Amino acid sequence: MPRVMSPLKDADAFHEALENWFLRARRPLPWREDYEPYHVWISEIMLQQTQMERGVSYYRKWMEKFPDIATLAAASEEAVLRAWEGLGYYSRARAVVRAAAILKERFHCRFPSDPEAIRSLPGVGPYTAAAIASIAFSHDIACVDANVERIVTRLFDIDEPLSGKTARRRVAELAGELLPPGRARTHNQAMMELGALVCGKAPRCGGCPVRGFCLAAERGTARERPVKKAPPETIRLTMTAGLILSSGRCLVLRRPPKGRWGGLWDFPGGVAEDGVPTGEACVASVRERTGLDTAVTAALPAINHTFTNHRVCLQGFLKKTETPPVPLTEEGTSWQWADLEGLGALAMPSACRRLVEENRLLLASAMPDSARLA
Ligand code: SF4
Repeated sequence: MPRVMSPLKDADAFHEALENWFLRARRPLPWREDYEPYHVWISEIMLQQTQMERGVSYYRKWMEKFPDIATLAAASEEAVLRAWEGLGYYSRARAVVRAAAILKERFHCRFPSDPEAIRSLPGVGPYTAAAIASIAFSHDIACVDANVERIVTRLFDIDEPLSGKTARRRVAELAGELLPPGRARTHNQAMMELGALVCGKAPRCGGCPVRGFCLAAERGTARERPVKKAPPETIRLTMTAGLILSSGRCLVLRRPPKGRWGGLWDFPGGVAEDGVPTGEACVASVRERTGLDTAVTAALPAINHTFTNHRVCLQGFLKKTETPPVPLTEEGTSWQWADLEGLGALAMPSACRRLVEENRLLLASAMPDSARLA
């Protein structure tokens, strides 16, 4: 017989221990000041795939630019993508733009409280809908994110990988059973905070407020829960970017709205196949994306960049031409000749932004019309 209490059978004691700890230990996050639905929504979207510290910094800047739904709905997609630049997963920002338009047209710039209406917004999946519905509107819905999954598998010592549907469904059911009616706002945040601060990948069971309810801690299996699936393979890519300069301006292309880096501006170029010299690969990619025949004139220092499971080495090349040629791009791609100030104002993938910033002096001398970046 386990010597620990059951978080389900001894639910009152479990909730008291968890919530008291949360009220003492919670981080003073800006959206916790008022739980205003717009604030909770933006924080939840930003924190998907983003570390808290980084998310808070972006959140504060975002709220200075777009303090409410009406301001956001009136902003251009370009301005929103620019504010998002560096956070990655740009489909989230584009979904925010679409959702803001719906909030304006259908809900008169008020965030809906109905869970179904929340779930129907672009970019809002089951977890995000549950988080907004419970944290902003106190609906009795359990939030099940990676933190909560980790805690539940440990509390109940579940020994199946969560990649299996059965185990994941069981964890979601248990998370729902753990939810105390009427206290979803505090409970959900307490569970997620516990996962972030105490029950992380390396659990700190000694300081855990629910140690007395945890079967995995009792059995010494906490570090083995959740049972892991094989990690995704690391993908290494060499990419090229052709910085074609003419009359003090640089050619930039805007990617089609869907797909990786959709809606962002970058330089013509692409993936270099193994064994192909990067200069040649760059010329071929520029031709493919713009129809232009260019010969590279100088290689820039390479940029190493990591996103998700990708390790990218981005090699930039300069090419100067006298008369700005007219590129022929694929459908959905737009283009412009931008000066340095213009480049600074465009939303770009982080690797391209670094390519510009780390070669700022060189570009300023090659593009003398405007020698500063916004
Ligand atoms: Fe996590 Fe350890 Fe607390 Fe269990 S006792 S919930 S494993 S930190």
